[in-house]
Amino acid sequence: MARIGILTCSNCTQETNCASVVCLGDMRKHRGFFERYPKEEPLDLIGIINCAGCPTIAAPEKILRRVEALADFRLDALHFSFCMTALCPFLKQYQKVITLKYPDLEMVMGTHKPVDKEEFQRGVKELLCQTISKPQTMNDMVKNTLELPD
Ligand code: SF4
Ligand code: SF4
Repeated sequence: MARIGILTCSNCTQETNCASVVCLGDMRKHRGFFERYPKEEPLDLIGIINCAGCPTIAAPEKILRRVEALADFRLDALHFSFCMTALCPFLKQYQKVITLKYPDLEMVMGTHKPVDKEEFQRGVKELLCQTISKPQTMNDMVKNTLELPD
Protein backbone atom coordinates (compact mmCIF):
# COMPACT_ATOMS: atom_id res chain seq x y z
CA MET A 1 0.00 0.00 0.00
CA ALA A 2 1.64 3.25 -1.13
CA ARG A 3 2.08 5.90 1.56
CA ILE A 4 1.22 9.26 0.09
CA GLY A 5 1.56 12.88 1.18
CA ILE A 6 -0.02 15.84 -0.58
CA LEU A 7 1.35 19.37 -0.66
CA THR A 8 -1.13 22.06 -1.73
CA CYS A 9 -0.95 25.72 -2.75
CA SER A 10 -2.09 27.91 0.12
CA ASN A 11 -3.63 30.39 -2.29
CA CYS A 12 -6.22 27.67 -2.89
CA THR A 13 -6.45 25.83 0.41
CA GLN A 14 -6.03 28.82 2.72
CA GLU A 15 -6.90 32.02 0.83
CA THR A 16 -9.80 30.62 -1.18
CA ASN A 17 -10.97 27.75 0.99
CA CYS A 18 -10.47 24.70 -1.19
CA ALA A 19 -10.93 21.62 1.00
CA SER A 20 -9.00 19.45 -1.52
CA VAL A 21 -12.17 17.51 -2.26
CA VAL A 22 -11.22 16.75 -5.86
CA CYS A 23 -7.66 15.72 -4.95
CA LEU A 24 -8.97 13.33 -2.33
CA GLY A 25 -11.79 12.04 -4.53
CA ASP A 26 -9.40 11.20 -7.36
CA MET A 27 -7.03 9.60 -4.90
CA ARG A 28 -9.81 7.31 -3.68
CA LYS A 29 -10.75 6.49 -7.29
CA HIS A 30 -7.15 6.09 -8.54
CA ARG A 31 -7.77 8.79 -11.15
CA GLY A 32 -5.57 11.57 -12.45
CA PHE A 33 -2.05 11.35 -11.06
CA PHE A 34 -3.11 8.46 -8.83
CA GLU A 35 -3.60 6.18 -11.83
CA ARG A 36 0.06 5.28 -11.49
CA TYR A 37 -0.67 3.06 -8.48
CA PRO A 38 -2.11 -0.45 -8.87
CA LYS A 39 -5.91 -0.16 -8.89
CA GLU A 40 -6.38 -3.08 -6.51
CA GLU A 41 -4.20 -1.49 -3.81
CA PRO A 42 -5.84 1.06 -1.51
CA LEU A 43 -3.75 4.21 -1.07
CA ASP A 44 -2.64 5.33 2.36
CA LEU A 45 -2.89 9.11 2.72
CA ILE A 46 -0.39 9.94 5.44
CA GLY A 47 -1.11 13.64 5.47
CA ILE A 48 -1.95 16.75 3.51
CA ILE A 49 -0.42 20.14 4.14
CA ASN A 50 -0.37 23.50 2.42
CA CYS A 51 2.67 25.43 1.27
CA ALA A 52 3.85 28.00 3.79
CA GLY A 53 3.28 30.84 1.33
CA CYS A 54 5.64 33.07 -0.63
CA PRO A 55 9.25 32.13 0.14
CA THR A 56 10.63 35.31 -1.52
CA ILE A 57 13.50 34.87 -3.93
CA ALA A 58 15.77 34.35 -0.93
CA ALA A 59 14.31 31.31 0.80
CA PRO A 60 12.82 28.47 -1.26
CA GLU A 61 13.99 26.24 1.61
CA LYS A 62 11.00 27.57 3.53
CA ILE A 63 9.00 24.73 1.95
CA LEU A 64 11.11 22.13 3.75
CA ARG A 65 9.35 22.65 7.07
CA ARG A 66 6.08 21.66 5.43
CA VAL A 67 7.62 18.71 3.60
CA GLU A 68 9.24 17.54 6.81
CA ALA A 69 5.83 17.39 8.48
CA LEU A 70 4.98 14.64 6.00
CA ALA A 71 8.36 13.09 5.16
CA ASP A 72 9.01 12.21 8.79
CA PHE A 73 6.32 9.58 8.44
CA ARG A 74 7.90 7.28 5.84
CA LEU A 75 6.39 8.52 2.60
CA ASP A 76 6.62 6.65 -0.69
CA ALA A 77 5.59 9.68 -2.72
CA LEU A 78 4.92 13.36 -2.23
CA HIS A 79 2.25 14.68 -4.61
CA PHE A 80 2.25 18.36 -5.48
CA SER A 81 -1.40 19.32 -5.89
CA PHE A 82 -2.68 20.19 -9.35
CA CYS A 83 -3.20 23.78 -8.22
CA MET A 84 0.41 24.04 -7.13
CA THR A 85 1.64 22.80 -10.50
CA ALA A 86 -0.67 25.27 -12.28
CA LEU A 87 0.06 28.33 -10.17
CA CYS A 88 3.37 28.23 -8.38
CA PRO A 89 6.30 30.24 -9.73
CA PHE A 90 8.60 28.53 -7.21
CA LEU A 91 7.93 24.98 -8.37
CA LYS A 92 11.39 24.29 -9.80
CA GLN A 93 13.17 25.76 -6.77
CA TYR A 94 10.97 23.71 -4.46
CA GLN A 95 11.74 20.52 -6.37
CA LYS A 96 15.45 21.30 -6.18
CA VAL A 97 15.60 21.95 -2.43
CA ILE A 98 13.36 18.98 -1.65
CA THR A 99 15.57 16.67 -3.74
CA LEU A 100 18.66 17.94 -1.94
CA LYS A 101 17.20 17.21 1.48
CA TYR A 102 15.23 14.08 0.58
CA PRO A 103 17.05 12.40 -2.35
CA ASP A 104 14.99 9.22 -2.01
CA LEU A 105 11.59 10.89 -1.85
CA GLU A 106 9.63 10.52 -5.05
CA MET A 107 7.85 13.69 -6.11
CA VAL A 108 4.76 13.46 -8.31
CA MET A 109 3.74 16.64 -10.11
CA GLY A 110 -0.01 16.47 -9.77
CA THR A 111 -3.01 15.05 -8.00
CA HIS A 112 -6.47 15.11 -9.61
CA LYS A 113 -7.17 14.91 -13.34
CA PRO A 114 -5.68 18.08 -14.79
CA VAL A 115 -7.87 20.75 -16.37
CA ASP A 116 -6.83 23.57 -18.69
CA LYS A 117 -4.17 25.42 -16.72
CA GLU A 118 -4.85 28.84 -18.26
CA GLU A 119 -8.55 28.60 -17.51
CA PHE A 120 -7.77 27.48 -13.98
CA GLN A 121 -5.35 30.40 -13.54
CA ARG A 122 -8.04 32.85 -14.73
CA GLY A 123 -10.49 31.36 -12.24
CA VAL A 124 -8.04 31.63 -9.36
CA LYS A 125 -7.22 35.21 -10.31
CA GLU A 126 -10.92 36.03 -10.09
CA LEU A 127 -11.23 34.32 -6.71
CA LEU A 128 -8.24 36.19 -5.33
CA CYS A 129 -9.16 39.59 -6.78
CA GLN A 130 -13.00 39.38 -6.82
CA THR A 131 -13.40 41.81 -9.71
CA ILE A 132 -16.88 40.78 -10.82
CA SER A 133 -20.06 41.92 -9.10
CA LYS A 134 -21.16 38.54 -7.75
CA PRO A 135 -18.31 37.15 -5.65
CA GLN A 136 -17.41 33.55 -6.34
CA THR A 137 -16.13 30.94 -3.95
CA MET A 138 -13.66 28.13 -4.54
CA ASN A 139 -16.57 25.71 -4.42
CA ASP A 140 -18.13 27.57 -7.40
CA MET A 141 -14.91 27.15 -9.31
CA VAL A 142 -14.36 23.55 -8.29
CA LYS A 143 -17.90 22.72 -9.42
CA ASN A 144 -17.56 24.68 -12.67
CA THR A 145 -14.11 23.71 -13.83
CA LEU A 146 -13.01 20.48 -12.17
CA GLU A 147 -14.42 17.04 -12.73
CA LEU A 148 -15.97 15.98 -9.45
CA PRO A 149 -15.52 12.35 -8.41
CA ASP A 150 -18.70 10.24 -8.31
S1 SF4 B 1 -5.54 20.59 -6.69
FE1 SF4 B 1 -7.67 21.24 -6.94
S2 SF4 B 1 -8.87 20.14 -5.36
FE2 SF4 B 1 -6.69 19.91 -4.88
S3 SF4 B 1 -6.28 21.51 -3.38
FE3 SF4 B 1 -5.80 22.37 -5.38
S4 SF4 B 1 -7.65 23.36 -6.18
FE4 SF4 B 1 -8.21 22.06 -4.44
S1 SF4 C 1 4.60 29.77 -3.04
FE1 SF4 C 1 3.60 28.64 -4.69
S2 SF4 C 1 2.50 26.96 -3.69
FE2 SF4 C 1 3.04 28.46 -2.11
S3 SF4 C 1 1.24 29.78 -1.95
FE3 SF4 C 1 2.64 30.76 -3.43
S4 SF4 C 1 1.97 30.00 -5.43
FE4 SF4 C 1 1.07 28.66 -3.90
